[in-house]
Amino acid sequence: MHINDAVFLEDLCPKFRLRQWRKSIHKFTGKSCIYCGKPSESIDHVIPRSQGGLSTTENCVPACLSCNGDKSDENALFWYRKQKFYDPRRAMAIRAWLEGDLRLAIRLIQWANPNFRVNDKNYIKDESEYNAA
Ligand SMILES: [Zn+2]
Repeated sequence: MHINDAVFLEDLCPKFRLRQWRKSIHKFTGKSCIYCGKPSESIDHVIPRSQGGLSTTENCVPACLSCNGDKSDENALFWYRKQKFYDPRRAMAIRAWLEGDLRLAIRLIQWANPNFRVNDKNYIKDESEYNAA
């Protein structure tokens, strides 16, 4: 990931852009928690802000409230490894997401959850929004 290419929340400041951004993050996973696959209700910082994690698309993943709350300020990859629902494919997806490779991340999530289908049309639209952001 090139830090200079990162999208900073400060640049997206107006509330509307922020809402669009949050929405697009949930759309990437079909509104499912990246950790456990339940409906995503929040956005989680993979690297907690307390550890210098940034509010960028690469560091923000859709998560259910239960995972988000339980993980708290722990590093997501360490926390995730200890969970009962740990799935190495999802761990790889989180890693890919962190590196900014959303396409690979989505493919891994799909592999971990065969019920999840990406709407290609939405995905292409989302990606252009992501690039433009
Ligand atoms: Zn969850």
